Amino acid sequence: MQILLIALDGLGDRPVSRGKTPLQLAKKPNMDRLAKGGISGISYPIGPGIVPGSDTGYLSLFGYDPYHFYVGRGILEALGSGAKVHEGDIAFRANFSTVDGKMNIIDRRAGRIDGKDADELAKSISKIIVKDRRGKDITFQFEHVHGHRCVLLIRGQDLSPMVSDTDMHVVGQVAWAKAINPSDDAKRTADALNEWLKKANAILKSHSTNKRRKERGLPEANFIITRGASMLTKGVPYKGASYSGIYGEAVSITPFKEKYKMDATCVASGFLYKGVARYIGMDVMSIDRKVGALHADLDEKVKAALSELKKGTDFVFLHFKGTDVAGHDGDWKAKVKFIEKADKAIAPFLKLKDTIIVVTSDHSTPCALKAHSADPVPILIHGPAGMIRPDHIAKFDEVSASHGGLDTLRHADVMPILLGLLGKAKMFGT
Ligand code: ZN
Ligand code: ZN
Repeated sequence: MQILLIALDGLGDRPVSRGKTPLQLAKKPNMDRLAKGGISGISYPIGPGIVPGSDTGYLSLFGYDPYHFYVGRGILEALGSGAKVHEGDIAFRANFSTVDGKMNIIDRRAGRIDGKDADELAKSISKIIVKDRRGKDITFQFEHVHGHRCVLLIRGQDLSPMVSDTDMHVVGQVAWAKAINPSDDAKRTADALNEWLKKANAILKSHSTNKRRKERGLPEANFIITRGASMLTKGVPYKGASYSGIYGEAVSITPFKEKYKMDATCVASGFLYKGVARYIGMDVMSIDRKVGALHADLDEKVKAALSELKKGTDFVFLHFKGTDVAGHDGDWKAKVKFIEKADKAIAPFLKLKDTIIVVTSDHSTPCALKAHSADPVPILIHGPAGMIRPDHIAKFDEVSASHGGLDTLRHADVMPILLGLLGKAKMFGT
C-alpha cells in the first residue's frame, strides 16, 4: 500500500460569490469522486487561531510540531535551492531592492526583477569575503532563487543567527542589522552582514546590468535586504540532521523515513516546499518552474508523481502552488480556474490501486484577505474498499467536508491516522 498526498497550497477560502467558496464554485468531478469514496473532514493546520506559514503548515502536516522543529525560512529555502549548506552556516532570505542616493528603500522588490538581470547581478556578489574585527574571514554566498528572491549564506567562525531583519517590509530608511542578544557572536554577525550589504551595494550600483535597467526606465536592483536568519548546526539533512532554530536552539530531526518506516519523495517546484522536504529527510524530485505557478504544467508534476509511485516509493508528496498565488492576488476566479485545472490533472490517479490518496492543504489563503488565515482546511482520505470507512460526503469543499467522518482534526493527526489505516499504528495497552 502506498500513499499519495496532494497538497493544493492555500486552498481553503471563505465565500467569495453567491455565498460559495472557490472550491464550492469549481467544477471538480475527480476530487468529488475521491470525496465520495473516501472520508472527509476539516483540519486546523496548527491549531485554532493560528495563522500558518507554508513551512509551518507542511511541517505540521508531516507530523513535525512546528513549535519545536521550525528553523526559519532562510535555511529551508537554502536547502530547497540545492545550495551546499555547511554546519555553522547562517542562512537568510534576501530580496533585491532599490535604494535612492540617501539609502532610502524605494522599492522592496526592485520592480520584481527576474531572469537574466537577476542572475547577472547575483553572480557579481555571489562570493564576497569580509574580515571580522579579529581579522578572520567571513564568506558570503549569495544565490538567486526566483524573481526578486535570493538566499544569502554566511560562513565563518563563531557566528550567530541572532541578528535582526534588514527587511522591515516597508519602504523607508535602510534598517541595518543589529544583534538581538548581547553575545559577541551576534554582534560580529550583524557587523559583518552590514559590511557585506555596503560592499554589495557598491558593486551593484555600478554594475552594467543596472545601468542598462536605468536606461530602460526599470528600477535598479542596487541593494539587498535580508530576513529570517537561521543556522544549520549539522549539515546532514538525510541522517538525523540537527539544526538551530530561529531562537538559536539546536533541533534534532528524525528523518521521515525513519520516523514512519516509509521512503518518501516530494514533487514540487518552489524552493520552500523542497526545502521543508529535504529538511525532514524526504527525497526531492525537482520540477523546474518555467512559468508562474498559476500557469504551471501540472501534467508534468502528475507524471513525475506517477513514476515515483510506480517505482514503489511508499509516500509521495505532490505540491501545487497556484491556489495560494490566486488567494494572495485576491483573484477568486483565478483560484476557481486553478482548482479546475488541478482536478483535470489528477485524473490519472483515480485509476491507482493499492494507494491511499489524500487531498488537502497547508493553510487557507482567503481571496478576501489576500493573505493566509487561521481557517481550517478541507481534507479527504480515499483508499481501497475495505480499508477506508466512507462517509456520506460526496463533494470536496470546506463546508461539505466539515460534516465528514474525519470531523475536525489538526494536521498533527493526519500521519497517525494514515499509519492507523496502514495497520502500522502501535497498540496501547494489551
Ligand atoms: Zn502555503
Ligand atoms: Zn501564501
